Amino acid sequence: MPLVSSTPLLEAARAGGYGVGAFNVHTLEMLQAVVEAAEETKSPLILQSTVGTVRHLGPDYLAAAATAAADRSSVPIALHLDHCTDFTMIVQCIRAGYTSVMIDASMHPFEDNVRQTQKVVEIARAAGVNVEAELGKVGGVEDDIVVAEHEALMADPDECAAFVERTGVHTLAPAIGTAHGIYKGEPRIDFDRIRRIAGTVSVPLVLHGGSGIPEEQVKQCIGLGMSKMNVATEIRIVFSDAIKAVFAANPGENDPRAYMVPAKQAVKAAAAEKMRMLGAIGRAAEHR
Ligand SMILES: [Zn+2]
Repeated sequence: MPLVSSTPLLEAARAGGYGVGAFNVHTLEMLQAVVEAAEETKSPLILQSTVGTVRHLGPDYLAAAATAAADRSSVPIALHLDHCTDFTMIVQCIRAGYTSVMIDASMHPFEDNVRQTQKVVEIARAAGVNVEAELGKVGGVEDDIVVAEHEALMADPDECAAFVERTGVHTLAPAIGTAHGIYKGEPRIDFDRIRRIAGTVSVPLVLHGGSGIPEEQVKQCIGLGMSKMNVATEIRIVFSDAIKAVFAANPGENDPRAYMVPAKQAVKAAAAEKMRMLGAIGRAAEHR
């Protein structure tokens, strides 16, 4: 089927009490790996690219690869631009065929965040594209956005409700204690805050920093009303480790397929595991 907007995927997930995995891919093999995991487990899927990867590969290449994957696939697939602060890039990605975009103006005061998000919602609406925005500040490093732990701010439930109402945004990423990158120890997730936000906001909620959150905590977040989980660092690590293992065993290897195939298998296994954790397996059937 063609690429779909992430809106119906996430609304179905919210209604069904499960989560959709959103995976940041950086190469063709990573993209194919998560698509194969979704296909084999019959899970809905959101492919994501960071701003850095869009600059690295080009929005047209990424959209073309995702479109080819979706056309061959029986499961619904959306293509999302993660954490973008640049309005021009958002427009370029929508033109290239992205079906979902994130405007991240969370580093600005509330009113600026509202204005910037409103502007993106307006242009995305005409293209049928989903818009995600962030409130509060998710800690850690995401490409060139760096938020120190002491600067990470939790989202306020009343502000979340006002923000969604004023912007018309389709999905909201409230900062609730998770962070980008790898956790030192267990993440300190504010579950009560998730419950309060999910109670005041009608749109699907997004869990950022999904790498390394223990299974029980993932399930709690989903059970409390989060519908999308972003996974980036973890699949980058398994991809790179598999390549390193090939070169450790055979330093003279020079056939890219010899190291890309095991790297792809590693990403596929890790992605399928997240889909299981999220309760997404078999849920693609809801979108026929
Ligand atoms: Zn994020």
